[in-house]
Amino acid sequence: EQLLKVKDLTVRVEEKEILHGLNLTINKGETHVLMGPNGAGKSTLGNAIMGNPAYEVTGGSIVFKGEELLSKPVNERAKDGIFMSFQNPLEVPGISLMNFIRSAVEQKTGEKIRLFPFRKEIFKAMDVLQMDHSYAERDLNVGFSGGEKKKAEILQLLMLKPSLAILDETDSGLDVDAVRTVSKGVEEYQKDKDGALLIITHSTRILESLHVDATHVLVNGTIVEDGDGSLVDEINEHGFERFENA
Ligand code: ADP
Ligand code: MG
Ligand code: MG
Repeated sequence: EQLLKVKDLTVRVEEKEILHGLNLTINKGETHVLMGPNGAGKSTLGNAIMGNPAYEVTGGSIVFKGEELLSKPVNERAKDGIFMSFQNPLEVPGISLMNFIRSAVEQKTGEKIRLFPFRKEIFKAMDVLQMDHSYAERDLNVGFSGGEKKKAEILQLLMLKPSLAILDETDSGLDVDAVRTVSKGVEEYQKDKDGALLIITHSTRILESLHVDATHVLVNGTIVEDGDGSLVDEINEHGFERFENA
């Protein structure tokens, strides 16, 4: 069952075209990996799907759950079930991690959340991520290390249960243990059979224990190759040279 269909997408950032007619289809529950050299446009694709207004879509379409997304603002897309974890998560003084996630879930579902079961669930998810429960009461990302910020992103993923999660280099800059923990969190999300993933990454470490349905290589704003999970290993070994010279 088709979840996301990106068709002939062109995107401009500050008057410069970054994506030149990109095509990508993700079905319900599938895990896709997006790789490509720095500056290829990977984050641009994520931002365009999320509806970040700095990324101007000048052509093509993005259909999600059978509906055109392009006319919808960011908050509606989140409500529809799209989540993106950021390369550099923001620090937000004055709102605790738990309250931030609680209001995000309330906004998404339109329902008031009962605190007791919510606390129980968030602590369970924090255990998967090896986060001390005291972090729930701390201001969002304030004074968090790089690894803790990334774990906080995955915690949001586990609590929000989106239909499509875009993870933008969630593993970059993390030590081996933190990558393993983040990967465990993603694996937990994969257990929900309906949740699809678009994982943007430079490394194969986060993918080791994850099932991958498809891999896409993005170079200079277009997808130059699609393959299965084995394409990840090939790129890891040989880099992007053969795609860049094609
Ligand atoms: P990747 O994630 O593949 O490394 P990006 O999508 O971040 O690549 O960037 C693609 C190109 O678009 C780069 O040349 C980058 O400088 C430019 N770009 C992306 N976002 C912005 C922005 N917010 N403002 C200006 N230029 C941007
Ligand atoms: Mg990059
Ligand atoms: Mg990027």
